[in-house]
Amino acid sequence: MTHDHRFDILFNPLKIGPVTTKNRFYQVPHCTGMGWQRPNMLAEMRGIKAEGGWGVVNTEYCSIHPSSDDLPHSYASLWDQSDVRAHRMMTEKLHKNGALAGVELWYSGANASSLYTREAPLDVNSRPNWKGLPYQSRKMDKQDFRDLRQWFRDAALRAKDAGFDIVYAYANHHYLLNNFQRSDTNDRDDEYGGSVQNRSRLLRETIEVLKDAVGETMAVAVRFSPDDDKMKNNKPAVEETREFFMQVAELPDMWDITPASWDIELGTSRFVNEGDSEPYINYVKQMTSKPVVAVGRFTSTDTMVDQIKRGIVDMIGAARPSIADPFLPKKIQEGRYEDIRECIGCNICYTGDQLGVPIRCTQNPTIGEEWRRGWHPEYVPEKKSESSVLVIGAGPAGLEAAHALGKRGYKVILSEARNELGGRVAQESRLPSLSEWIRVKDYREQQFLKLPNVEVYLDSHLSAEDVLLTEVDHIVIATGAKWRADGFGRNNAICIENLGASEQIFTPDDIMVGRLPQGKVIVFDDDYYYMGPVIAEMLQKGGCQVTFVSTSNMACSFGSYTSEQPSTQKALINAGVQMIFSQNIQAYDGANIELSCMYTERASMLKADAIVMVTARLPIDDLYYQLQDLIENGKAGSTQSIRRIGDCEAPALIASAVYAGRKYALELDDSSGTNYLVRRDVNFSS
Ligand code: ADP
Ligand code: SF4
Repeated sequence: MTHDHRFDILFNPLKIGPVTTKNRFYQVPHCTGMGWQRPNMLAEMRGIKAEGGWGVVNTEYCSIHPSSDDLPHSYASLWDQSDVRAHRMMTEKLHKNGALAGVELWYSGANASSLYTREAPLDVNSRPNWKGLPYQSRKMDKQDFRDLRQWFRDAALRAKDAGFDIVYAYANHHYLLNNFQRSDTNDRDDEYGGSVQNRSRLLRETIEVLKDAVGETMAVAVRFSPDDDKMKNNKPAVEETREFFMQVAELPDMWDITPASWDIELGTSRFVNEGDSEPYINYVKQMTSKPVVAVGRFTSTDTMVDQIKRGIVDMIGAARPSIADPFLPKKIQEGRYEDIRECIGCNICYTGDQLGVPIRCTQNPTIGEEWRRGWHPEYVPEKKSESSVLVIGAGPAGLEAAHALGKRGYKVILSEARNELGGRVAQESRLPSLSEWIRVKDYREQQFLKLPNVEVYLDSHLSAEDVLLTEVDHIVIATGAKWRADGFGRNNAICIENLGASEQIFTPDDIMVGRLPQGKVIVFDDDYYYMGPVIAEMLQKGGCQVTFVSTSNMACSFGSYTSEQPSTQKALINAGVQMIFSQNIQAYDGANIELSCMYTERASMLKADAIVMVTARLPIDDLYYQLQDLIENGKAGSTQSIRRIGDCEAPALIASAVYAGRKYALELDDSSGTNYLVRRDVNFSS
């Protein structure tokens, strides 16, 4: 099979300085929670992207010197020969699959406070740490500029030694080069501050150093934001940066462009759609003859072609689409569009970096497990027996288990009580702004069409007796969880005793099936993620007077790790939702809620017609226990095993349920299980 010729342009080679990419699929640098700490994991993960057809594959941000240290956020480094050896493992895998290898040289400045190395970071001025830590940078003096140039040169030479083809200067996202660029962060009065000419000096010098060191054989790229991070007449303001860009437009071999705001570049699908960055970046190609790449969470092939044909970009940049589907280019090339696992824009992938652990993804349960567990996004080991498996529940856990078991060749029965597949993703995707969640179901449902050994039954609620009648060898229970109405949660380890009449208490499950409160509604959030804010905004827009009460000191605090916290709080403010933070619920008499302050325990009262409890979920595990009893009493016939997975085992992210489904499927007839976890990564120093 081959692709539609409308998409030919995506497979045209392109010269980038002295190197040539085989196609227009460009995996931009993206963090992985691996960096120099987990080089084997990193090499294997990036290698699989090259196998999936990406023309260029980049590392994450790569520190040029120990004074640029961002731990606990993992970053790559090129400080010495041990780093060279570690990167070589990756570049060799990329080259074997015909991809170019890129490295994004990074000097942080005050954005990172070198918690690990304890070396003072250099910056424009002595500035407080951007992330709120009580550290300041050192103002750069003349020797520091000479040192910085040398560090870039040394890192570039090491990059060449490690086998890279493209070397970057990372010049946006409030890192050092960006802080010199911007007039609102550069207050120097020497030759590096003031005029545009002066503010562009450091970037110009850096590009010169890189070109001089490695430019004959390696392409020099710059990651840059072409807008001013402000709006003017409802449009992105670009005037100041456009003037700056004119100084440097022809200097590097290519431009990697992103909007200045993380909220746009990395916005979740709740707030940002595919291609929404365009108005922030669209002038760049008119001002440079050099190739341009930009991201936009592109998964539609038509949009990709359109971006290139309209002269917005030359290459399709991707971080998240390459995580959700490392084989995206290959699938497009082979015309297998229905096999594409589209990113849902949830940003769970970003939480790995933010929390200091390896990457994970809602759509692709194998990412980050390529080296440790030997998992592959496309290939699964063949079945090891003729066993049959009954999967009960077709939420993300059950769907993925049935999908991967089916691919392995097992005979699978998937039984779902409702008249639709998807479980929680089907329900949640009907809430405002969560429609992309349905892609988790769509991809797997599509795959079932190719798996005749997977039989799917809807409207099929199974009891323990029904289950045993199927006479399967293995039973996997993926029956999910339901939201609790009793107040039990993070801050109430015992249910709240006095909660009045049950018809005035609602849960997200009620809201999702259309049972809605009216009047003065309290959305009580002890969950800290998207569900409480989504419901509060929806009810307020639907005519209720909503007060969002949380035990946390902000809305959606987990969203700090997915990058959506600020947008979430802004949306609640704009919708007119009242917010009360750091308060717990003590009691509700049907008219008044008694609150208590999380710090002082001081009591206060609030009038309410109803409460929506967004606190915790209760595993639906009764079937599991009933079957376990039958097995233990020898009444389970030929059943060999029974397991529970996903939310019915331990309610968590959609990503966790998908992962649990894949893990069950790959470990059937293989007892290795957690043994893989002892395969810990190390960076062998010299
Ligand atoms: P997870 O996130 O773990 O996949 P979900 O809550 O999304 O869990 O999905 C669980 C699915 O299991 C729901 O679609 C629900 O209708 C289904 N289910 C629950 N109990 C039964 C049962 N006894 N028989 C068949 N399906 C069930
Ligand atoms: Fe996309 Fe979510 Fe996967 Fe990230 S975690 S790549 S946003 S599906």
